[in-house]
Amino acid sequence: MSNPSLLILAGDGIGAEVMTEVRKVIDWVGTNKGLTFDVSEDLVGGAAYDAHGTPLHDDTMAKAQEVDAVLLGAVGGPAYDDLDFSVKPERGLLRLRKEMDLFANLRPAQCFDALADFSSLKRDIVSGLDIMIVRELTSGSYFGEPRGIHIEDNQRVGINTQRYTEAEIDRVARSAFELARRRGNKVCSMEKANVMESGILWRDVVTELHAADYADVELSHMYADNGAMQLVRAPKQFDVILTDNLFGDILSDCAAMLTGSLGMLPSASLGAPMANGRPKALYEPVHGSAPDIAGQGKANPSACILSFAMALRYSFDQGDLATQLEAAVEKVLADGTRTGDLMQASDGTPATTTEMGDAVIAELAAF
Ligand code: NAD
Repeated sequence: MSNPSLLILAGDGIGAEVMTEVRKVIDWVGTNKGLTFDVSEDLVGGAAYDAHGTPLHDDTMAKAQEVDAVLLGAVGGPAYDDLDFSVKPERGLLRLRKEMDLFANLRPAQCFDALADFSSLKRDIVSGLDIMIVRELTSGSYFGEPRGIHIEDNQRVGINTQRYTEAEIDRVARSAFELARRRGNKVCSMEKANVMESGILWRDVVTELHAADYADVELSHMYADNGAMQLVRAPKQFDVILTDNLFGDILSDCAAMLTGSLGMLPSASLGAPMANGRPKALYEPVHGSAPDIAGQGKANPSACILSFAMALRYSFDQGDLATQLEAAVEKVLADGTRTGDLMQASDGTPATTTEMGDAVIAELAAF
């Protein structure tokens, strides 16, 4: 059997710095766990624009379609702010998501005990929090037609359309139910069935699918506005939250902030299974290229390292190793090795990006 393949697209700003630490983890896994990856690297975002005049070269897109998983750092930066919309760094990322048809976006909101004081909520509300938001990523209001701004009765009218087919709802709901079976076995589906027809269809399709194939999973439904309220009132009531593209955009950012720092948040975007049974997959930290700290060794590599842990779990069926890596990150934080984003001014000298990555490797070795 050939080795599993990874395409690394470090991108811009702190992308390269945090990805360097992930490379150390990949190498460690190869040497110590007998899990060797065939790793290739390429450009995306501003780095690809500088080299090729496009934020994602066709050859890179083709490679992304062939590998078992793509790991992405971050894209963007002030140098590219004035570029035409069609070649902005973010277009490279959107192209990857669209052409790989990554319809299920997984955003965990997990609060390590050591970081509970960084949340804007009280410690007892967030400590031990572990929820997963599954957001539909390729349809709904951000893609629906008609859309645009036009003139009607002598004034401008802005239009976007919330549109979902049964198949689009079914496939992302399946992802959520499958995921729940590997976690707390509960799905809460959020929409606005009280005021939107697309919400009524969403609720119907999820309910039908549940009855047909996932009756063993506990299913509940909630209006998305109540969901937002419950996320800040009592977030630990949730296991997996399933929602559409627009509500998911907002709810996942809200859930993310329960956990403290952007530097801690991983994500996965999954598509349909390939011939080898693995889903098309892109793993990336939630944060951007952080131009304010880029090149200074200040970036927290945890989000990118935890994104690789998600790859181990969801693309390579290495759940135990993923758990071990997550525990190593948690232990490093608990022992006090932290980058500046996880410290108060009075806490002493922050660890550098490299020191943080090295500490995670040392912790892995100590297990
Ligand atoms: P950002 O996430 O880059 O940074 C927001 C703040 O969080 C900054 O103060 C930054 O220093 C801090 N931060 C982010 N990640 C951190 C880390 N790992 N460790 C420590 N601190 C960290 O968001 P922004 O400043 O709004 O955007 C900067 C650029 O990134 C823009 O060009 C934007 O378009 C792009 N962006 C890209 C992505 C992506 O690649 N997926 C996501 C968001 C923003």
